[in-house]
Amino acid sequence: MEKTLIFLKPDVYEKRILGKVISAIEDQKKYNILEMRMDRLNEERAREFYSVHKEKPFFKDLVKYVCRGPILVMLLEGRDVISGIRKFMGDTDPLKADKNTLRGKFGESLDSNVIHGSDSKESAKKEISFFFPEKLFE
Ligand code: UDP
Ligand code: MG
Repeated sequence: MEKTLIFLKPDVYEKRILGKVISAIEDQKKYNILEMRMDRLNEERAREFYSVHKEKPFFKDLVKYVCRGPILVMLLEGRDVISGIRKFMGDTDPLKADKNTLRGKFGESLDSNVIHGSDSKESAKKEISFFFPEKLFE
């Protein structure tokens, strides 16, 4: 069983569709939600979380996006959950994403693209410890 870190971004909270997105994930019938918490990133935490993107032209907007409201953070478990949930998230750009993916269904643009999901075992480990430090060594 593999673990990953996802969070529902502020657009999901703003649109009051947290429940719909959680339902869509549960309807996959593949993953266990081990932990779930409303949280909020400040600029410093967001810059740290997305530090791999710090040289990218969109970095500033990305930090602003994820700080603009509450996020819902989840620790998910399941077989091949890292790649499985990435696939279900869909393309980073909701306009290019398949309609049966979370971003295709609920997203609008690069700064309203619904969800973050760890992209590898290494980033999952780092990102789980970022939000759930007490879970790291389980
Ligand atoms: N992003 C953006 N412009 C871009 C690429 C990405 O604003 O050209 C934002 C978008 O919100 C994305 C996040 O930066 O989800 C992180 O980018 P990444 O390439 O890691 O995409 P993801 O892993 O989220 O699909
Ligand atoms: Mg990414």
